[in-house]
Amino acid sequence: MNEFDFISKYFSPLSDKTHGLNLLDDAAILPESKGKIVITKDIMTEGTHFLSGSNPKLLAQKLVSVNVSDLASMGASPLGYLLGLSLPKNTEEKWFEQFSLGIKQSIKSYGGILLGGDTTSHRYGTTLSLTAIGSVCNSNPIKRNSAKPDDIIFVSGTIGDGFLGLIIENNSNNLEMKEFDKRYLLDRYNNPKARSSLGVELCGIASSMCDVSDGLIGDLEHILKASRVGAELYLEEVPISQSAKIFIDKKIYNIQDLVTGGDDYELLFTVPKNKLKNIENLKKKLDLKITKIGKITENKDFFPTLNGNNISLNSKGYKHF
Ligand code: ADP
Ligand code: MG
Repeated sequence: MNEFDFISKYFSPLSDKTHGLNLLDDAAILPESKGKIVITKDIMTEGTHFLSGSNPKLLAQKLVSVNVSDLASMGASPLGYLLGLSLPKNTEEKWFEQFSLGIKQSIKSYGGILLGGDTTSHRYGTTLSLTAIGSVCNSNPIKRNSAKPDDIIFVSGTIGDGFLGLIIENNSNNLEMKEFDKRYLLDRYNNPKARSSLGVELCGIASSMCDVSDGLIGDLEHILKASRVGAELYLEEVPISQSAKIFIDKKIYNIQDLVTGGDDYELLFTVPKNKLKNIENLKKKLDLKITKIGKITENKDFFPTLNGNNISLNSKGYKHF
């Protein structure tokens, strides 16, 4: 099966006639949108982001989710995607079948269409790349640089599950744990869900936002630096799942590990005091956990505390170089 065969068999059905031109032309036509256009790209490489032999359907779903999470953190919802694949020459048809199924399911749940891409072969391993294009309706994109003193800091969902999922995936813990907890944490690592609806709903409410991909602390520092403000962060308030709590209770990891771990794909955002009521309404509307974890200060210092005691954190997020 050559490149054109698998594009037409597996990828064209994820496109459309009007904008993606069923992936039969040289380029695509961007769907029209009333709002501002937001665009992002993420690359996942074998050896760095996933092991060789990883489940192609899960890789595809994660690839879409991490990009949609970046759009969500700007308050944007997806219009379309461009997919870049660099694959070993001997990649089997089964891989394309499963990979395209993962892309299909994710695109279906988040919205948008496959607009195009490029495919090459490579002797050394697999590289997957996605560009996601989205739009922000009725407001400006939510940036990192606009948190103001006295704004309240919130985070969605729970923190640390992805970090623990990776540890379980790598088999580097011998903890006896229930199958349910193991599966939950592995799923949070391998198949994170972008908080797309929340991101869009926060337009006009959040003063600043980013998604938590490098660790809660590191990502909050990005907001603080960009906004030239400081923060108080109450570590005892950071939401932890029941499954993650097992690790804390048994003192295998502590909260400091979870907030510097990364791979959460939750939304971290600040809200001015006069908009706090909107957050209460959103929690109900989306049936989603949204937790207050701190406050922005004019003083540029960053104070993470645990039950009132200052805590110093060494690792502040994953860095590639
Ligand atoms: P070019 O020769 O200009 O690189 P291709 O022959 O590679 O064009 O691609 C033909 C069509 O297939 C284009 O519309 C392109 O966007 C699409 N395409 C190629 N690879 C992919 C992919 N991995 N995912 C989605 N669309 C793809
Ligand atoms: Mg090409």
